[in-house]
Parts: sequence; structure tokens; C-alpha cells
Amino acid sequence: MERVGIKNLTRSELEKALAGLGAERYRARQIFRWLYIVGVRSFDEMTDIPEDLRRKLKAKFHITHAALLDSRRSSLDSTTKYLLKLEDGNTVEAVLLPEERRNTICLSSQVGCKYCCGFCASSIFGFVRNLKASEILDEAIFIKRERPSAQITNLVFMGIGEPFDNYNNVLKAIKIFNDSAAFNIGARRITVSTCGIIPGIERLKNEGLQVELSVSLHSADDSKRSKLVPVNKIYPLKELMKAARDYTDKTSRIITFEYVMLRDVNSSKDDAGKLARLLKGIKCKVNTISYNRISPTATPFKPMKARDYEAPSEADVKIFIRTLKEEGVNVVHRKSKGADIEAGCGQLKASRLKNA
Ligand code: SF4
Repeated sequence: MERVGIKNLTRSELEKALAGLGAERYRARQIFRWLYIVGVRSFDEMTDIPEDLRRKLKAKFHITHAALLDSRRSSLDSTTKYLLKLEDGNTVEAVLLPEERRNTICLSSQVGCKYCCGFCASSIFGFVRNLKASEILDEAIFIKRERPSAQITNLVFMGIGEPFDNYNNVLKAIKIFNDSAAFNIGARRITVSTCGIIPGIERLKNEGLQVELSVSLHSADDSKRSKLVPVNKIYPLKELMKAARDYTDKTSRIITFEYVMLRDVNSSKDDAGKLARLLKGIKCKVNTISYNRISPTATPFKPMKARDYEAPSEADVKIFIRTLKEEGVNVVHRKSKGADIEAGCGQLKASRLKNA
């Protein structure tokens, strides 16, 4: 019988499985503590679980873990990026972003990505497969073990992959991250970021979860956005904004729109004006960030024009932000984290594969 990855079970699912093994419900909470708080890699380490139950658990389940392939720590801001190997040899990236009052992990949800956003390294090597919930959890467990002093307070699904393409596994992982017996991270501290997959937005609005939703926007102009975020051809701005409005109406939560500023592409005063008009009446905030250039060594496709973006000048950024503020848009310009370590999604993996 093939053994199941035990981290693919929510606590209530584990309680049911334990009942089938003749064990008490409270054992699930104990097992969760070992898996997610202590981060054990074998049932034998669960010393408060009776030996007989451990034997039964071993026969039915196995405990996955991610192994380190590479890591880079920024000398600028302590951002650390990890390239992790999964049990089948595939690799994913996870990033720890330490700040004064919080420590955020940026998680991948898929191996590779199919959406080919123009400035993102994640889809360079194509889409391979969805991550299981256990593999998503393993990214965070790995970082917890590696950096025990960094109390993890926030999670963002902004690494490799489109979370709504792997909806069920991402949702299951969120439930376990949120579980008081596991990571105990409040739903409001978990952000799901989509490139604009409308069916995912519609599904999430009916879940009754308090998670944050962020949408990668990057342009308020359909033809520009279709180049930067090709899925815009399937889910164009008008429909995306309707989905955003419906989401905020139904959940009473605001949406965050992410906007990567690219020189001579989407960062002019005119672009800011268009953006303000597009977002009128939507309960939202905008996070802008200047493009974090993919290292010239990072991509084997360097000659591709699409990868040759530059960050805008500081003066352009100021005008853009001022224009948005004058139009009443709630906007924050963020600094690129880990600019010296290829911390943008997919960049470390791309760099390593290129240099392999
Ligand atoms: S930005 Fe997100 S959706 Fe777009 S290619 Fe990168 S990982 Fe995929």
C-alpha cells in the first residue's frame, strides 16, 4: 500500500484517520506539534506518541521534507533565498524576508509556471507540476528549522507559480498554516497573490476566509498588460476589475494591486492617471515596486527583448506616486528586497540551472 504524506491532511482529516487506527482525537494535535512546531522528519522522534501508534502511523503515512540545494543571503537587507529540492528531485524557491517587526516567507505553489509574465524568471523553464500541500508546508518548515530565531509572522504566495492554478492544495496548506496546533499564523497575515485568474478570485470570495488577496496588475492598459501579463488576453482588465469589485463587495476586504514599475513601459504620469481611473470605486491599495532586474547570468534567454527591462528613475517613481496620491489612490512604494541575490521569483533557480 502506498503511504500518504501525512502533511497533506488537515487536523480534522488526521483525526478521522487516527480514529480508523483506534487512536484518540487529541493525538492529532500532538502530531501536528511535532510536524509543524518542532519540524521532525520521522515518527520515531514523536516521543509522546505510544510506540504502537507510531508503528501504525509509519505503515500508513510518511513525512516529507525539503532539502537545501542552494541559498543566498542579501548583504543589503538579510533577505535569504532558498532553492529547495523536493522528494522527486524537482526544485522550488522560498524566500525569508526579515523586517523589524515581522518575518515573512514568500512561498512557491507550483514547480515552474505556465503564465510567462514578461519580467518574471519563473516560467523560463516551463510548467512542471502543482505542489502538494505537504510540499508547500515543507518550504516553511525548512526555513523554520534553518532560522529558528526568526519567528514566522506572515506568508505570501508570491513565489514560483500561480496559486489559483493549484487552488485546492494552496487552500489546504493555508488551513494548516492557520491551525493553532500548527503554525498558528492568522489568516489576515497570509496573502494569496494572483496574476488575475478570475475563477480563482470568484472561488476565494465564497470561502469565508480572512486571507489577503493581491492581484499583479502592472498596467491599466489592456495592450500593455497583455504583453506583461499574457493571461490578460483571457481575463482582460474590464472583467478583472468587475471580479475585484465583486470580491470586495462580498468579503468587505480590500484588494492589493501589485505594480512593478518598468522604465519606459508603465511608469509615466499618463500610466498613473490611467491606473487611478481604472481603480476608481474599488476598495483597494496599490503596492508599487521598482523592477528588480534579472541578473544577466540568470537567464539563458537573455537576448529576448522581453527580458530587457530596466527600473525607472527615482524622479519618474516620485511623479507616478504623486499622481496616484493626488487622484486619491492609496499607494505605497516598496523597496526591492534582496536586490543583490536574485530574489525575484524564479531567479535563483534560473541562475543555478544556467550555471549547472
Ligand atoms: S509573475 Fe507569477 S504568474 Fe507570472 S510567470 Fe511569474 S510566477 Fe507565473
